[in-house]
Amino acid sequence: MTLADACAFAEAQGWPKFRGEQIWRWVHAQGVRTFDEMTNLSRDVRDQLAARACIGSLKVAEVQTSKDGTRKLRLETRDGQSIESVLIPFEGEKTTLCISSQVGCAVDCQFCATAKMGLKRNLDAGEIVDQVYLARTLLAEVAPERRLSNLVYMGMGEPLHNYDNLVRSLRILCDDKGAKLAQRRITVSTSGLVPKLERLGKEDVRPNLAVSLNAPNDEIRDMIMPINRKWNIGKLLAALKAYPLEQRRRITFEYVLLAGVNDSLRDAGQLAKLLRGVKCKVNIIPWNPHPEAPYERPAPAVIDAFQNECKRLGLPTYLRTPRGDDIDAACGQLANRAGESRTPLVPLRVRREPPPPPPVD
Ligand code: SF4
Repeated sequence: MTLADACAFAEAQGWPKFRGEQIWRWVHAQGVRTFDEMTNLSRDVRDQLAARACIGSLKVAEVQTSKDGTRKLRLETRDGQSIESVLIPFEGEKTTLCISSQVGCAVDCQFCATAKMGLKRNLDAGEIVDQVYLARTLLAEVAPERRLSNLVYMGMGEPLHNYDNLVRSLRILCDDKGAKLAQRRITVSTSGLVPKLERLGKEDVRPNLAVSLNAPNDEIRDMIMPINRKWNIGKLLAALKAYPLEQRRRITFEYVLLAGVNDSLRDAGQLAKLLRGVKCKVNIIPWNPHPEAPYERPAPAVIDAFQNECKRLGLPTYLRTPRGDDIDAACGQLANRAGESRTPLVPLRVRREPPPPPPVD
């Protein structure tokens, strides 16, 4: 429920509207998980609430800790589905939480483990928000010196495919009377659903945007991200250029580097040319292996050469060190593996030759 929903709920029970706000603040500002803890409500109101409502919709089923300190939470929904969230510690006290927006995903990026699950269902806004609250509680227990500083919608699922629940969860998390997360500390990652990007640009909540690009041209992107056949790079960049970015914000492009597919110097040159004039930075993510896709991570020298070429051509790039890859928690590895057999290898086309030269201006 948003704050407005909670007030409407209170009124529907025959209570004053402010009762809804009291209850809502207990949940979203104080973080309580039982009605009994709401000490400024009468016993009668607490009993009525317990009979008609519930707080939180997820249960922590498993926590795995990586040798680099990354923690993967496997969470169970009320209908027995599993999703994953990842807590990633950074220097100092900062910690980023990566959350899921769907059970599985329908987008079918060829390098991603989640894609192999297919889409089971959307998460509702409560299930999205609850990931934040459960992770925050875990962090307070295991590393009280740390704080949840950033939130990224980059876990399982395509957030813009679950648009209404995405926006609803953002409204709840950013509400000044609740969890008060800063919009500038939240990033939503998309594979490039152009009409939804245009819609997001008109909302009253405006998170940072990350776009999973992964290719410098349509030929390669068509091959590794089938969604490109619907909204190609030209359409995507046109939508991004029209997106109303707040001052001093940039779009982040994610570029998963796959050996022999999109990692040549020619690819780097084409990428730099493609993104010229776009307020952006590029996160280079050397592919995190998982058994469902027959790709390889490029050699360190190839990764360095790719990044140096981008930089030489004026494209700001950052190399993302894999985090939590020993527990399958790194980017592209989330697939609810606990207790499940892994999907057998699917043969895919892997191009080894360099791509054709970019078109001449
Ligand atoms: S990379 Fe993201 S959008 Fe693509 S299949 Fe995986 S979860 Fe879905």
